[in-house]
Amino acid sequence: MGDSRQLNVLFASSEVVPFVKTGGLADVAGSLPRALKDAGCNVSVIMPKYSRIPDEYKYNMQHICEFYVPLSWRNVWCGIDKLAYNGVDIYFVDNEGYFKRDGIYGYFDDGERFAFFSKAILECLQYVPELNNIDILHCNDWQTALAPVFLCEFYHGVGNYDNIKTVFTVHNAKFQGQFSNRMLNDVLGLGGIPAAADQLYCDRDSINFMKGALCYADRLTTVSPTYACELQMPFYGEGLDGIFRRRSNVLSGILNGIDTQAWNPSSDSQIAAYYSIYDMSGKAECKRALQEELGLRQDPLRPLVAMVGRLTEQKGIGLVRYAMDYLMSRSVQIAVLGTGDKDLEDSFKYFDWKYGDMMSARITFDSALSHRMYAGADLFLMPSEFEPCGLSQMIAMRYGTLPVVRETGGLKDTVKPYNKYTGEGTGFSFANINGDEMVGALMDACEVFWTDQDAWKKLQYQAMTQDFSWRRAANDYVGLYHSLHPEV
Ligand code: ADP
Repeated sequence: MGDSRQLNVLFASSEVVPFVKTGGLADVAGSLPRALKDAGCNVSVIMPKYSRIPDEYKYNMQHICEFYVPLSWRNVWCGIDKLAYNGVDIYFVDNEGYFKRDGIYGYFDDGERFAFFSKAILECLQYVPELNNIDILHCNDWQTALAPVFLCEFYHGVGNYDNIKTVFTVHNAKFQGQFSNRMLNDVLGLGGIPAAADQLYCDRDSINFMKGALCYADRLTTVSPTYACELQMPFYGEGLDGIFRRRSNVLSGILNGIDTQAWNPSSDSQIAAYYSIYDMSGKAECKRALQEELGLRQDPLRPLVAMVGRLTEQKGIGLVRYAMDYLMSRSVQIAVLGTGDKDLEDSFKYFDWKYGDMMSARITFDSALSHRMYAGADLFLMPSEFEPCGLSQMIAMRYGTLPVVRETGGLKDTVKPYNKYTGEGTGFSFANINGDEMVGALMDACEVFWTDQDAWKKLQYQAMTQDFSWRRAANDYVGLYHSLHPEV
């Protein structure tokens, strides 16, 4: 260790809570930078200035500067605004042509929009004095994946750019940013650099942004140790497993945390009654209130199984559909909150109708209801086919709602399966993508619920006292950053 100055970190993400959110990446980008600051780094965040950002934030932004971003044969206007939020400076990349739209993703020119964002991140470092001395550029997912590529190809030997080391975090390898190879010349300006073009190609006429970052970044991380191993296998690697294997020496898995203040049953204003490990009586009231709200039979003796999340194949929803009739025959109540694939949504609407006061499906996005479900349920089911980290199972444990999960990715790393001989554990799990195995794990859990209240209470206690705060993750990232700058 050298002069022990603070490391200057720029954290780049296409979505950040509370400004804009479509998935777990926004939660991470909203919490991790603050935790990194508490761990001793000087952190700023950069994201696009979407028109969807609530006005209360937009009105308070300060205009910092403007410049032109070179994109192949064009120079594109870019403004930089700034807002201090929760003790961290957030920089917003402004260009109305790209970001003044109703939604966030899903446009014909998404490739160009986020290539621009990635280039603007690098350009602004020379125009914003506070960002002149960045040590670590931490990029996340495909939307910022070109920044490490551009840094290497266009900024070598320029100003302070050679000091910058890059970290790239994969939050979900399924979404890679694949676009026509015509972008190479037209937008990225990399057509004349065959070595770069070669690394971006994924088939004859497409390029893949994430592949670029996997080849160029100094360090690769993903959001759980198990997912870091799984990515190197064909089943989980989404076609990139060969690169993950080749770069396994710089790949690591760092588990996400959750916002332990927002998710806290002893102070959560959205739930029916407060409770904590010292007095769990409020949880029974939460269950009763949830059963009433969802039109379920108010019976404390029936295990109430909740699911909150996207209704997609990734989440193993097909297994639940397969097992529904059997579970309903075993006096289990099931409550689902989620949106997603139309045919899965329709199935659950049908089950809601068919099973009356034993099954409830709310096909909507409702944050307040999700709090009441985490608090009111006995069990939380998450049989994912793959799960890079998963936040819901950690939230459930914090509310003493025991997770039943498939042993994959972050689920495997966060849920300790119940050991009936020692009483150890924080939930229940099964290994294979198999509906009968899932039912087996769920019925094992119900058996404990029905027959051994002492064991159940012990499991709840163990689940609720796990440390899921961001502090642990932040320390791991800071260690990684320092390994790239041993002189600091
Ligand atoms: P993902 O793969 O979607 O990122 P995570 O488990 O990492 O899954 O995070 C999902 C987050 O979104 C959790 O905080 C969960 O409570 C929330 N969530 C998902 N679907 C809904 C919904 N329909 N209503 C309310 N909250 C939801």
